[in-house]
Amino acid sequence: MSDDCIFCKIVNKDINASIVYEDDKVIGFKDLHPVSPTHILFIPKKHIKSIDHLEEGDSAIVAAILLGISKYAKQIGISENGYRVVSNIGKYGGQTVFHLHFHLLGGRAHSWPPG
Ligand code: AMP
Ligand code: ZN
Repeated sequence: MSDDCIFCKIVNKDINASIVYEDDKVIGFKDLHPVSPTHILFIPKKHIKSIDHLEEGDSAIVAAILLGISKYAKQIGISENGYRVVSNIGKYGGQTVFHLHFHLLGGRAHSWPPG
């Protein structure tokens, strides 16, 4: 828990979010400014700043996030067409919230390379 972290506040239900997935380690909620028809942020309940700040003991958390994404994508029916998972890291990655999150983007085709 980090006092000044907006995603920790969502985990603690101190601020509202539209939560669509939850297990013991992870929550998934709708992005406030969706860029695709499906745009969900999957985050660990533990405050970790980014992929670059993961420690050896966090491997079960990362696995839980990716499995949660896969389960949720199947549940809402976007698996067949495919989808994109993105985690931005630091300044060049375009990260704006410094609590690890994976964007699940679906419901349309996504081009490559990204901007
Ligand atoms: P990033 O730029 O990868 O750090 O992504 C941060 C994402 O968090 C952006 O897509 C924002 O729209 C989203 N975001 C910021 N604050 C909130 C919030 N309170 N609830 C839902 N999504 C948020
Ligand atoms: Zn946090």
